[in-house]
Amino acid sequence: MSIDIQTIRKDFPILEKQVYGKPYIYFDSAATTLRPVQVLNAVTKIYTEFNGNPHRGSHYMSNQTTLAYENVRDKVQKFINAPTREEIIFTKGATEGINLVAYSFGDAFITEGDEIIISEMEHHANIVPWQLLAQRKKAILKVLPIIDKGELIVSELDNLITPKTKLIAINMVSNVLGTVNPIQDIIEKAHAKNVKVLIDAAQGIQHIKTDVQKLDCDFLVFSGHKMYGPTGVGCLYGKKELLDAMPPFLSGGEMIDKVSFKGTTFNKLPYKFEAGTPNFTEVIGLGAAIDYVNNIGLDKIAAYEHELLEYASLKLKQIDGMRIFGEAISKASVISFLVGSIHPYDMGMFLDKMGFAVRTGHHCAEPLMDRYRISGTVRISLAIYNTKEEIDQLVDAIKKTVAILG
Ligand code: PLP
Repeated sequence: MSIDIQTIRKDFPILEKQVYGKPYIYFDSAATTLRPVQVLNAVTKIYTEFNGNPHRGSHYMSNQTTLAYENVRDKVQKFINAPTREEIIFTKGATEGINLVAYSFGDAFITEGDEIIISEMEHHANIVPWQLLAQRKKAILKVLPIIDKGELIVSELDNLITPKTKLIAINMVSNVLGTVNPIQDIIEKAHAKNVKVLIDAAQGIQHIKTDVQKLDCDFLVFSGHKMYGPTGVGCLYGKKELLDAMPPFLSGGEMIDKVSFKGTTFNKLPYKFEAGTPNFTEVIGLGAAIDYVNNIGLDKIAAYEHELLEYASLKLKQIDGMRIFGEAISKASVISFLVGSIHPYDMGMFLDKMGFAVRTGHHCAEPLMDRYRISGTVRISLAIYNTKEEIDQLVDAIKKTVAILG
């Protein structure tokens, strides 16, 4: 059964908006997706029907919130097939998840001279926390290179991994190139040498069915707002034995077992890593986003996005002077490009005035821009609500821009 895009589009009221008197055409879902009414309603319902601080109150509303909040933990557990619910930690996003591991795992297990491997196509969120960790611990950060078409040179891991290597942190999908990385192979190579692996699934979770048990990754992070959920919420999955062995990251209420002025003992998982009042509204909204994705079916979403990707790639390549960055065999629905010598900001500004939301700049991946010797690109990212007609309109708009600027 195929999906009915026009029905799906009705779930996203913002698509009816106009900008500058023109229909709003959204091609920036890799930055943040739009949110369907099902998610908006779930969020509104919390404030209007059962507001209460979870885990704390003994009153009815607090208990309701606790149930709804914990229910989402079960949903996430199922969604990524984690072995236990204790291994799901709510964070405010992928960035916080990576920082949690860099500080907590880093504190406990990284010492002077140890090595951490990342790749040339990482988002700053999966670079800077490791750089800072390396500085704190006098550890060494190594980089797995890519080839021009945007694929990792996985075999290079055989040279990069040494007995000092403790962790590989790698994205599932590049936010710039769209490359779907062979993370299963990377995890197997790493584990063969006793190296732990963190998967940054910020750009993967919304496109690819993720099974942490099959992958056997040690950690995995993602953000809710890139998968049709609210902002300010994300998840860290970690293997229980690792999370148990790691010290707390943020501290305060809820993450404690017993506090006295002599010292503190800590709560069990997952609460040890969830200090303070949780972002329960957003977590419950994330639950609605997972339901939304499950109801359509991730396989169907991926198949439709792939169709759009192929169509858009073909159409864009017909434009004179088009250079696409990222031509990996396995790609998610992200296309970065430049046309002739037109600066990406100029292209973005013209497209904006015609109603198109695209992303321009370095996409928080400056080392990758250096790799290609460019300052930035224009990026379109396609999601379940986009259509081929919108792509045709974009291609016309790019051609118009080229005619003016080129
Ligand atoms: N990793 C990748 C690959 C990303 O694309 C992003 C954001 O664009 C992040 C991590 C950080 O996500 P967030 O800003 O939601 O924490």
